[in-house]
Amino acid sequence: PVQDEAPAVVVAAAAPIITATSVKVNVSLPEAAARAAATGADGVGLLRIEHMILGLNKTPGWYIRNNREEEFVKELYDGIKVVLDAFPGKPVWVRTLDAPTDEFRNMEGGEDEPEEHNPMLGWRGIRRDLQQTEQFRLQVEVFKRLWSEGYSNMGLMFPLVGHPKEFIQAKQMLAGWGVDVENTTLGIMVEIPSSALMIDEFIAAGINFASFGTNDLIQYTLAIDRNNQNVADMYFPKHPAVLKLIEYAIGRCREGGVECSICGQAGSDPEMVEWLIRTGITSVSSNIDAVQKIRETAARTEQRMLLDMARR
Ligand code: PEP
Ligand code: MG
Repeated sequence: PVQDEAPAVVVAAAAPIITATSVKVNVSLPEAAARAAATGADGVGLLRIEHMILGLNKTPGWYIRNNREEEFVKELYDGIKVVLDAFPGKPVWVRTLDAPTDEFRNMEGGEDEPEEHNPMLGWRGIRRDLQQTEQFRLQVEVFKRLWSEGYSNMGLMFPLVGHPKEFIQAKQMLAGWGVDVENTTLGIMVEIPSSALMIDEFIAAGINFASFGTNDLIQYTLAIDRNNQNVADMYFPKHPAVLKLIEYAIGRCREGGVECSICGQAGSDPEMVEWLIRTGITSVSSNIDAVQKIRETAARTEQRMLLDMARR
């Protein structure tokens, strides 16, 4: 009967698509958390905290210099908590601060930012936190508060890591500040070719996951400034050299039992995602608007792979 069939169609249309690949979402601002969660994403594969700080319009150094650290901690705590509350029980990978000096320069306190000839190759990401340890400690203060409140689904991801010793040093600092590093999810962004090439050493150093930051990995592999219009048409995400690095790192992560993901813009491109899944990636994090499309891509790709396997 027609009335029996009708609801079945509706239910089928509304049913969530299940995929073996974890399809996560990228978030930058707490205001976007609800919209990100409504996509049904399996977690947050990249939470960019520097956007929260840029919104405060004061550099971390300004808070430190004016003895207003607690305000900084509170702002960051509030922002991250909104995102965690939108994803209960799902992994949320919070990226530690990654702001180049030129992005901080226009903020209050920005006069202390050094003038760099090439900020993208300069003082940003984990290299900055390892030197500006007070800035790093304040972030860790926030993470510790959240962990102590039961947000054990929160993991940390270090940006712009180029050598395993940076990961080891960051982990030692966390331990020194009282973090139970052996029971905390810690990972790296693979966005410098050296970290893709040295992925085995990172695995040996104890990373729990690796995530491709293709926006930077492409620019550093091809020497193409991602913000330079003159060379924009040479910024080629599917360049064989980029794919080679990714393929190598995925293979080593699989071998080492380490979760491998992507959080760069290429993770929102269905064609790229199909290739990544076929290559063995187990997680993908895309822009909020792309999650549904990427989920469908993952489902379709997995189904084709199963069919191929069954036929063989
Ligand atoms: C990347 O480099 O791909 C990335 C996700 O980081 P960001 O774009 O913030 O540099
Ligand atoms: Mg990056």
